[in-house]
Amino acid sequence: MTPAQLIALDQQHVWHPYASMDSPPPAYPVVSAHGVRLTLADGQELIDGMASWWCAVHGYNHPYLNAAMHQQISDMSHVMFGGITHAPAVTLAKRLVDLTPKGLDKVFFADSGSVAVEVAIKMALQYWHSQHQAKKNRMLTIRNGYHGDTFGAMAVCDPVNGMHSLFASVLPQHHFVDAPPMGFDRPLETDDLTELEDKMRQYQHEIAALILEPIVQGAGGMRFYSPQWLRGAAKLCKQYNILLIADEIATGFGRSGALFACDHAQVQPDIMCLGKAITGGTMSFAATLTTHEIATSISRGEASCFMHGPTFMANPLACAVANASLDLLEQSDWKNQVDGINKGLHQLLRPAIDLPYVEDVRVLGAIGVIQVTQTVDLGIIQKMFVEDGVWVRPFGKLVYVMPPYVMSPEDLALLCKGILRVLARYFGQHHAIN
Ligand SMILES: *Cc1c(COP(=O)(O)O)cnc(C)c1O
Repeated sequence: MTPAQLIALDQQHVWHPYASMDSPPPAYPVVSAHGVRLTLADGQELIDGMASWWCAVHGYNHPYLNAAMHQQISDMSHVMFGGITHAPAVTLAKRLVDLTPKGLDKVFFADSGSVAVEVAIKMALQYWHSQHQAKKNRMLTIRNGYHGDTFGAMAVCDPVNGMHSLFASVLPQHHFVDAPPMGFDRPLETDDLTELEDKMRQYQHEIAALILEPIVQGAGGMRFYSPQWLRGAAKLCKQYNILLIADEIATGFGRSGALFACDHAQVQPDIMCLGKAITGGTMSFAATLTTHEIATSISRGEASCFMHGPTFMANPLACAVANASLDLLEQSDWKNQVDGINKGLHQLLRPAIDLPYVEDVRVLGAIGVIQVTQTVDLGIIQKMFVEDGVWVRPFGKLVYVMPPYVMSPEDLALLCKGILRVLARYFGQHHAIN
């Protein structure tokens, strides 16, 4: 198949994320990926600013991760988890328990982030049921959140971004409060938690859990907020007898500059979701962790068990490569890598704040965001990025990067300079029209 044939068949038959099948834009055929570079079918190489949506923290085609998968394939790629266990799962569970905030010591493995969120919500509901408080069956969450695309997860995504109106009749109804004020370093002001506390006070009898992305709201707006706010929210949860679910699917494993974003605030959630970077970007996999108390209460409840069990639960291949990814995080000094990228992003992107088409520049950990003044035309700007040799996929007004941690300062400079060059050309050409 030639690249042109491949693109044509793709457009005819294959859905892409959040894409039209009526007039699908051509997708770029990638034939391989090494380190921080994607290779296109025509031989062009792109520096990857996305880490495949937060996942590929060690870069692509890492020999150590590949070796772990080869080794595991020669033993078994998969075996059912009902009544069976295996070393890759047990080892991984123990390591996650040791790495995550104190108290989280029971691990449920699932196959994707959205499912991990479904599991977290279900755990909260089953917990209150087992406590004879079955009326506590609603979630409380903050606007601008993103928690996945399945129905349970979608119901706690931002109502506008998540297009709740489209699914209004089938989505469970939850409570929403405004997102925390922006700024990791913003000092907490007296009113910052008032709306949250009011909601909790009024609806504590029906609220099972507060679910949020700690510190970094990702796909719902690339917003950063302060550890003080998170700490305050966690305290209110205790006060009003509401569980705290931390969705660390995007932030987990170092991305925000702490191993888990909760660590910035020394917050110990009751339930935590992990995914995305958990296998170093090699396979779909996720985990939901909870406390001894919640797990025990659920298990002594009406069902005598937790009512969930995916077919590919604790897939050995995914567990093996997740263990290898943790090895790499430990060996490679992830904190040093992330701090290095942080410094580079500050130096290279910050100056863009003075440009007329830039509204805000924000950097946290290994995440850099340029918020422009107008929604960009993805079809036009994506092509310009590729022509410049960088892979960046903006949404709305947000042009953002979360590079693999292994990116060298030279490649980071190429990536950031490419972005700024493209934005200058794009707004040079388009701002007159808009
Ligand atoms: C990506 C993401 C999810 C959903 O994970 P999938 O693997 O895409 O189902 C949930 N929560 C957060 C915070 C995410 O970033």
